[in-house]
Amino acid sequence: MATAYEDLMERVRDIGRLQTSLALLDWDQETYMPPNGVKARAEQIALLSGIRHTQLIDPQVKRLLDEAQTDEDDHVARTNVRETRRNYERAAKLPTQLVKDLAHTSTLAKDAWAKARAQSDFSIFSPLLSRLLELTRQKAEHIGYSAEPYDALIDEFEPGATSAQIEGVFARLRDETVRFLKRLTDSSTKPDRSILTRHYPEQQQRALSRKFAEALNFDFESGRLDVTVHPFCTTIGGGGDVRITTRYLEDFFQAAMFGTMHETGHALYEQGLPREHMFTPMGEAVSLGIHESQSLMWENQVGRSRAFWEHHFDEAARLFPKALGDVSLDAFYGAINTVEPSFIRVEADELTYNLHVILRFEIERELFNGQLEVDDIPQRWNVKMEDLLGITPPDDAQGCLQDIHWSMGAFGYFATYALGKLYAAQFFAKAKEDIPDLFDRIRANDHKPLLNWLRENIHRHGQRFRAGELVERVTGKPLTIEPFMSYVKNKFAPIYGL
Ligand code: ZN
Repeated sequence: MATAYEDLMERVRDIGRLQTSLALLDWDQETYMPPNGVKARAEQIALLSGIRHTQLIDPQVKRLLDEAQTDEDDHVARTNVRETRRNYERAAKLPTQLVKDLAHTSTLAKDAWAKARAQSDFSIFSPLLSRLLELTRQKAEHIGYSAEPYDALIDEFEPGATSAQIEGVFARLRDETVRFLKRLTDSSTKPDRSILTRHYPEQQQRALSRKFAEALNFDFESGRLDVTVHPFCTTIGGGGDVRITTRYLEDFFQAAMFGTMHETGHALYEQGLPREHMFTPMGEAVSLGIHESQSLMWENQVGRSRAFWEHHFDEAARLFPKALGDVSLDAFYGAINTVEPSFIRVEADELTYNLHVILRFEIERELFNGQLEVDDIPQRWNVKMEDLLGITPPDDAQGCLQDIHWSMGAFGYFATYALGKLYAAQFFAKAKEDIPDLFDRIRANDHKPLLNWLRENIHRHGQRFRAGELVERVTGKPLTIEPFMSYVKNKFAPIYGL
């Protein structure tokens, strides 16, 4: 007879199968679905989402959780039960009506947000944003928290993290970043980024993107690379079916090249999760922050390194003779590593990016602590932009209306982007210590040593360790900003002649 634990896991795997079937419907909608398929697709997604939620909060899950016996030294079972309990409790605490209200309001809010952004008119979005905030406050109260409501929201994306702890890390990151940014912007030596906006034909970009994904060891037998407006990575069948997408902009070289490497980094994590634990927490990623550390490491620490381009630049110059024929490796390396305050988060460089995130984190926290009213967001945003980046957005479309997250009700999400940068730098510093010839290997286009290191230290553990615990276990230290700050200083100071 199957034990309660085995029964529980079979239920959990079914929920995972439903979840990934939904992911496949989403992927198809973004890639190949004809426009007239949208009505049926919305119905299919709504039906499956409902079934998934019902299964997740089924009283049988609660009973099996209570009955499941796990051995003290069976870390697989302990992890699976711990995370299943967490998922069950978060879902079961929310009244069905609130879940429906949130889904319904965010559907309307996404539409209003798109209009508001197109017309750069915050007042089109603000009534629905107020409603979403009200519902999300209720959600936080139902879930519960120890210090402040915002903690309940952060915990959804970065389990175990709290606002106070993130604030402590961000306060130092903010000060050090602003100080270093000033030195860079004051320097008279500046790289020229304009070569990246020359003409780069799509056909050749496709060839090079695929080549980069292959070089980084993306397994095309266990995944695909397709084209979408907004690039993403999604997992359909455990590590055996991981789909990434990219986009080709002929007058903006970075989008496809670094976008593909970024999504490849996400995919390498998914392809490296233990397949014998597919559809259970032991076969899943730790958190959004840890996920982002994997994509960012391949995109930046590897993909924007000099060593990487020492191998690939000649080929790029051959593929794009008109754009790169007269460009030196040094000039190209500088161009892909420029630092400049800008309005749009997703276009920001490695250094200023975190300031965009800190701004959102602070504003969200003020909203949930009752220190900021919705109508005051645009003004607060602009003051903070001036304060952090020294620039003021000309309109709200380039200010507080630029991101989709709030319209989706995804409050507490942004911090994970900056945490990902910090995790990436801290992991990479340790990997460099453990693999002394790491950059020689990168220069030789051999990315296996780093991938094997990530597989061994991070991927194979699934959700066994929470993010904070994982960082400490792998690097011997809790999360700190030092590895990130020394990474950016070592990289950008020479480029800017400091
Ligand atoms: Zn990402």
